[in-house]
Amino acid sequence: MDGKIVDWDQANISILSHALHYGTGIFEGIRAYPTENDLLIFRLEDHIKRMFESAKIYYIDIGYDLNVLCSSVIDLIRKNNMKGRTYIRPITYVGYGGIGLNFTGFPIHTAICTVSFENYFEKDGLNACTSSWRRISDSSTPPLAKATGNYINSVLAKLESLNNGYDEAILLDHEGFVSEGSAENIFIVKDNEIHTPPISSSILNGITRDTVIRLANDLKINVVERNISRTELYTCDEAFFTGTAAEVTSILEIDHRKVKNGKNGKITSKLRKSYQDLVHGRNKKYSNWLTSVYLD
Ligand code: PMP
Repeated sequence: MDGKIVDWDQANISILSHALHYGTGIFEGIRAYPTENDLLIFRLEDHIKRMFESAKIYYIDIGYDLNVLCSSVIDLIRKNNMKGRTYIRPITYVGYGGIGLNFTGFPIHTAICTVSFENYFEKDGLNACTSSWRRISDSSTPPLAKATGNYINSVLAKLESLNNGYDEAILLDHEGFVSEGSAENIFIVKDNEIHTPPISSSILNGITRDTVIRLANDLKINVVERNISRTELYTCDEAFFTGTAAEVTSILEIDHRKVKNGKNGKITSKLRKSYQDLVHGRNKKYSNWLTSVYLD
């Protein structure tokens, strides 16, 4: 926290922190995976780069450089002696400097936490619904920034979906095209081709999304980024979410329509396996995406 390792009980912030009241925080979610004798952080630098992009959008000066943040993540994991599947949460937020919106001159804080984290979803395949809430848009609160304030939109959609008996929500963008899940990107498969909404459909530029696109290319499966209509969700052959927390998770039912026969699809299963192989260091092509915590 602000450059020091701080005991959990001492890691406190002001009740008048600007970020608490106005959502002025930017953050990342990163995973680390255990191997026989090591822990591998997945695409650490890419996550921290995205954090700098989020900060830039909101005029926030993180005040540390990329290398310092990356090495702090490694130091903290070692200090906490994390050995199993781990979730890493770096956050930069505007602190207390007054009650107004203009945070010029206010303190900017950065903290990193690590927690043990298994599966985000408790099920193998999900029952999803189209949310009655629209995804935030680039003309109001830009979805390309991973900003804390953005997640109030995700929370509305997530809780509505759970309250209605579903596992997850699919949000449409302001034009009515498919955007993404509450905290995941979405893909559909049709006639052995993969389709996913473009950046312009109000999505977060997901690092898992990018990874899966590359893995699909390696498997010679064509990937098309294009606007997707809601009803295409009802007629696709397979559908899945991607995200650091969600990894690759099948969607088996959408708005009371089974996706194909309601079973895990072939392409989704293939990508799921390739993704797990990659993050556990079993795909040498991408070893530069993995940061060793204990062996280097
Ligand atoms: N969209 C949203 C809104 C998210 O919160 C996340 C999780 N970070 C994603 C997509 C997936 O992004 P990533 O693969 O980089 O975790």
